Amino acid sequence: MSAIQENLMKIKQAVEKKDCLVVAVSKTKPVENIKEAYDAGHRDFGENKARELESKFGALPKDIRWHMIGHLQRNKVKYIAPFVSLIHGVDTLKLLKKINDEGEKNKRVIACLLQVHIANEDSKFGFLPTELYELLDSGVLSTLKNIKVKGLMGMASNIRDHRTIREEFSGLKHLFDLIKRQYPETLVEMKVLSMGMSGDYQIAIEEGSSMVRIGSAIFGLR
Ligand SMILES: *Cc1c(COP(=O)(O)O)cnc(C)c1O
Repeated sequence: MSAIQENLMKIKQAVEKKDCLVVAVSKTKPVENIKEAYDAGHRDFGENKARELESKFGALPKDIRWHMIGHLQRNKVKYIAPFVSLIHGVDTLKLLKKINDEGEKNKRVIACLLQVHIANEDSKFGFLPTELYELLDSGVLSTLKNIKVKGLMGMASNIRDHRTIREEFSGLKHLFDLIKRQYPETLVEMKVLSMGMSGDYQIAIEEGSSMVRIGSAIFGLR
């Protein structure tokens, strides 16, 4: 087994015991690295740049489920709309509408997660909880037939203080559970809670994550 395969297997064993899916974040890494993980049976990969995602899709087996995990610009949606499996970082209604348009052109329904701003940092994108409720209450989601909201995504502050990270994750889980209770599945499906990266995925899983996005702990430092 290669180092990548060993890292991946160790993490998968620990994470999948908790009913959580690993998205292997392969951004900046060559397709050969992805192929190693693929050959070990892994199928979920994440990238944060649309053009890089598109070119890796072209170069690799077609049963890979590709996750767009980073900040997505509206003019780049077209490059990934034909095949993307899940878009994690949807942070504005404008972007959601654009994804819907591209879904319509490609005659498919594109699964999306709404990104929530949970960190105490200005640099992180996402809806504030109040903005999220405004979106859900506006009714606009039921007019967008070519997207389906499947859950929420969040990034904790990039700090060492575990208590703060834990509070941010548990706040997001709380919001996730509330929305699940308050809104019908026909409007939003709260099935996926995407939180946790290499440095904080254990905390995220303890706080209820169902999908972790792990890059450097699998593929090595970028
Ligand atoms: C790069 C990235 C990750 C993975 O980061 P690692 O620390 O390498 O695990 C997860 N989520 C997003 C949104 C990213 O951009």
